[in-house]
Amino acid sequence: MKPQEILSNIRLNGDRIELTEDLMDEMGDSHISTAVDTPMVPHAFDRSDEEKIAIIQGHFKAIMETLGLDLTDDSLKGTPKRVAKMYVKEIFSGLNPANMPQAALFENKYRYNEMLVEKNISFYSNCEHHFVPIIGKAHVAYISNGKVIGLSKLNRLVEYFAKRPQVQERLTVQIAKTLQEILGTEDVALVIDAKHLCVASRGVEDDTSSTVTAFYGGQFKNEKTKEEFLRYLELNTSF
Ligand SMILES: [Zn+2]
Repeated sequence: MKPQEILSNIRLNGDRIELTEDLMDEMGDSHISTAVDTPMVPHAFDRSDEEKIAIIQGHFKAIMETLGLDLTDDSLKGTPKRVAKMYVKEIFSGLNPANMPQAALFENKYRYNEMLVEKNISFYSNCEHHFVPIIGKAHVAYISNGKVIGLSKLNRLVEYFAKRPQVQERLTVQIAKTLQEILGTEDVALVIDAKHLCVASRGVEDDTSSTVTAFYGGQFKNEKTKEEFLRYLELNTSF
């Protein structure tokens, strides 16, 4: 299954936009050819987290100094270290496979063979083209083929892949494909609706648009099943 066949990019006005050549170029050739993997160098994890933090701290200090900031100021002097720690330990911790959440599966004892939807999973990611936040909601669904996964694991999986420099298309496929692997079924669907601050706060400064991407695997390719899933997303759940 090629990613461009399963991705859909839909603007808020409802017009469906196919991935254009330009967009594919922008995403990088490797994104298309390697399909779902985040482009990484072969020895990405030879250095320890502490070594990476020390190096990034130095580089970030240089960026701040180049911008003309006075690093002797009490408010600024701790920033390079704070940013370096935040990159490695928090917002980009999902680059390291060692941080992949363990997903225990359970027998589907209640024989619940219908669709399970977990919607409105909030996540924070960062755009890999500008390193500014992507803020979004993920809506995940699957149909059990005998195994079920703890609900919080769905949140953790979304969070893990979000904690990388990302493009929304790849984030969508990474989460969905991994869930298919873990659950041993093709019957997985995922919709992500996200706001990209690189679009909202800079560039075209469009504060109202959001980007929707979707993945429909297995039974979810069937229009009726897909519609059922999308109907659940419209349910108003204000608890
Ligand atoms: Zn961007």
